[in-house]
Amino acid sequence: ARHLLSRDGHNILLDCGLYQGRRKDTWDRNRYFHFEPSRVDAVLLSHAHIDHSGNLPNLVRQGFAGPIWATMATTDLARVMLRDSAFIQEKDAEWLNKPTQRRRHPGIRTIEPLYSMEDAEQAIKQLRGMEYHKQFEVLPGLDVTFYDAGHILGAAAVIMDIQRGDQRKRLAFSGDIGRAGLPLLRSPEIPYNVDWLIMESTYGARTHDPIGDAKEELRQTIVDAVERGGKIVMPSFSVERTQEIVYFLNELYNEGHLPQIPIYVDSPLAIDVTAIFRQHEECYNDATKNTLRTNGDIFGFQRLSYVRDVQQSMQLNAIKTPCLIISASGMCEAGRVVHHLRNSVGDSKNTIVFVGYQAENTLGRKLVERQKEVNILGEPHEVHANIVTLNAFSGHADKNDLFEYARTVKEASPNLKRVFLVHGEEEGLSALKQRFTTELGLSVTIPSLGERIALEEMNG
Ligand SMILES: [Zn+2]
Repeated sequence: ARHLLSRDGHNILLDCGLYQGRRKDTWDRNRYFHFEPSRVDAVLLSHAHIDHSGNLPNLVRQGFAGPIWATMATTDLARVMLRDSAFIQEKDAEWLNKPTQRRRHPGIRTIEPLYSMEDAEQAIKQLRGMEYHKQFEVLPGLDVTFYDAGHILGAAAVIMDIQRGDQRKRLAFSGDIGRAGLPLLRSPEIPYNVDWLIMESTYGARTHDPIGDAKEELRQTIVDAVERGGKIVMPSFSVERTQEIVYFLNELYNEGHLPQIPIYVDSPLAIDVTAIFRQHEECYNDATKNTLRTNGDIFGFQRLSYVRDVQQSMQLNAIKTPCLIISASGMCEAGRVVHHLRNSVGDSKNTIVFVGYQAENTLGRKLVERQKEVNILGEPHEVHANIVTLNAFSGHADKNDLFEYARTVKEASPNLKRVFLVHGEEEGLSALKQRFTTELGLSVTIPSLGERIALEEMNG
C-alpha cells in the first residue's frame, strides 16, 4: 500500500509497502514508483507490516531523503522488519542469478535485488519516532497525530490537519484497522471531525470468529493434539500473532490449564520482535498492564523456550513425544517452519495448527485446503497430519467492524465529505461501497492504482 498526497508542490507519502504474491505479478509494481521519490518530502508510516513498510528501502535507494514518521514502537519494529526483508531480497536475487535459473530466462541481465541491506540501513536512519496523540508538524501547514489502530504493536491511524488561510481541514488515514478485544492491544480509536477519510477494506467481504473464543480454542486444540500423541507445529507470523499466542499460553499455564508439554518459539525474528514488545508497555491495554503487575513476565514461563540457535532448531526434529513448536514464516513459504512441516506432515499423530491468514499459492494455503500431497523444499510429501485452522485469531477488522468504524467516524464528523476505500480486494471494496452509500449516505470513491484524486477545493 502507498498513497501520495500532493499540495502546493509538496508531496507526502502514506505508507510504502511491498506487494506480496507471485513474482511476475509484483515485480514492476514494487520496482517502479508512479512518482519521483526524490520529490517526496516525508513519509507517514502507519505500521511496520511489510505490506505497508517493505518498499521504504527502495524509495530511499531511488532518492528519497526525507523523514519517515511513525510511532515509537513502529520505528523499533520497522528496524528488524526492514533488515529481515533486505536479507530476503538479496537471497532472492542471488537465487535468480544462479546458472540454472539463468538458462530458463535467457537474455535477462543479472538481476539486482529490489534493495540491499545498505538501502535498508539508510531507510532505518530516516525513521523518526513519535508518541501517540502528540501532534507534530511535518510541513508548514500540515500537522499530524497518531491514533491507536489496535492492529499490531505501534499501529496507528494517521490524522492530518491541513491549514490553508484560516481554514483547517482534517484528512484521516485509517491504516490497517484492528479489532476490539485483541490480547495485548487497545481497541482502535475513532478519528473525529474528519473531512476526508482514507480507509482500508481488507476484510470488506468476510467475518471472523469472535476473538473471545481464541484462547479456549487454542487450549482445546492443544489438548486434542496431545491426545493424538504427536507433535504440534504452529506456523505463525513473527510480529503480533506469535506474541498473542505466547500471551494466551502464559495465561493458560498460570491457570493450570495447559497440558504438560514443552513449548518452543523457533524463530530468531520472533525472538527479536518479542524483545521489542517487552520494551513498549505503553502500547498495552489495561488488562495486559494488570497481568504484567502480578505476573512479571507475560512472554515467558517454565516449559517455554525461545530457540535462536540453528543446531538447537534442528534438534527439535528428533523429538518424538508431544511438544508445541511455534515457528515462522506464517504462510510457510520460508523459514524454519518449512523444515518442521517436512518432518511432521507425513504422520497422522501430528497436528498442524494455523492461526493466521494463508494467501493463495502458498504452502500454508495448500495445507489449509487439505491437499493430499504438497511440495516441500522441492520434494512431494503426503499429508497425513491433522490440520486445524483457528479462525478467531485475526488482527484485522472484519466487514462488520469496518462498517461500524465508518459509521462512528461519520457520527463524530459532521463535515465528512468523502471516504476513499483502499487496500482491499474487488469483492470487499464493492460490498463496502454499497453499504456505506446506501446505509450511511456516504460519498465513496475506490481509487485505482496510480490514480490522482484532487480533494474537493477548500473554501477560503
Ligand atoms: Zn497490517
